[in-house]
Amino acid sequence: MNREKINCLIIGSGPAGYTAAIYASRANLNPVLYEGLQPGGQLTTTTDVENFPGYPDGVSGFQMMEDMKNQALRFAADIRPGDITEVDFSSRPFIIKASDGKEILAKTVIIATGATAKYLGLPSEEKFKGQGVSACATCDGFFYRKKNVAVVGGGDTACEEAVYLAGLCNKVYMIVRRNVFRASKVMQDRVLKTENIEILWEHRTKEILGDESGVTGVLLTDKNGKEKIIDIHGFFLAIGHHPNSDIFKKYVETDDLGYIITKGKTTATNVPGVFAAGDVQDVHYRQGVTAAASGCMAAKDAENFLVDNE
Ligand code: NDP
Repeated sequence: MNREKINCLIIGSGPAGYTAAIYASRANLNPVLYEGLQPGGQLTTTTDVENFPGYPDGVSGFQMMEDMKNQALRFAADIRPGDITEVDFSSRPFIIKASDGKEILAKTVIIATGATAKYLGLPSEEKFKGQGVSACATCDGFFYRKKNVAVVGGGDTACEEAVYLAGLCNKVYMIVRRNVFRASKVMQDRVLKTENIEILWEHRTKEILGDESGVTGVLLTDKNGKEKIIDIHGFFLAIGHHPNSDIFKKYVETDDLGYIITKGKTTATNVPGVFAAGDVQDVHYRQGVTAAASGCMAAKDAENFLVDNE
């Protein structure tokens, strides 16, 4: 088979992947980037992005990712639709198979495959995504200022998001399926001290209600099956993320949750020449700007690796 030989393969097209492509192209690495199943990544599922520096009037998530892609194309990054289906990191150059049938020999790989927010799986949730249903309070909370919102989940993310939203919104309901939080004590205490958060213990979401204006409420059931409706405009999922690291796990070390482990303040993984950037290696910050920054770091780490190893 005719294998394509390249310096740097970037897997993923969120802020981390595109930023890595911009830096790697400008360093003459001639990177190839595969966009993955969701071109543009998670940000394309939000509405407006108002916290990414450089956009004083905000920008749609989709437009911002188009801007990043065009910036990478300007420096001749080779951006391809499609997914990476198989990797062999057992020796260098790495052997990678793509969904377009290509087999690639890459001297370095930057994994920027992101994480996927978990959803409840309700049809009404799908219907109102971007119209009141969100998996990112930091991204979308601002649109629900002085309104009532709900956060689903009882982990650290749910507590953090509920406290954040409480500073913006009139009232925050936390919908928790058990009678205890999973969150750390310190996060629980923050929630319990916040006056405008009401915790609905042992409640589950049956349906998200709404009209053409977006979400208007949510139908809940308690542990006895008794139904109740709460009036809200924003419904925030905080039931965990799944880092998209599955196809790399045979070679690359991850933590218990599947997040790729990087060394110290670098993006290096346990496999020399393989780097990880963005949400696939970041359980804590998970922001567009932090993902972009780590994409820059990964490109610079890959560049230095090539200099040291050629
Ligand atoms: P977690 O997996 O820790 O918590 C998920 C929460 O969602 C749990 O309360 C769980 O309930 C609930 N849940 C899961 N599925 C459903 C469902 N289908 N319906 C209703 N509720 C559901 O995820 P997080 O995102 O909160 O945290 C991930 C990791 O990141 C953790 O290790 C956390 O400590 C860390 N983190 C740390 C932060 C910090 O230190 N500041 C901030 C954010 C995250 P149940 O408990 O019943 O399973």
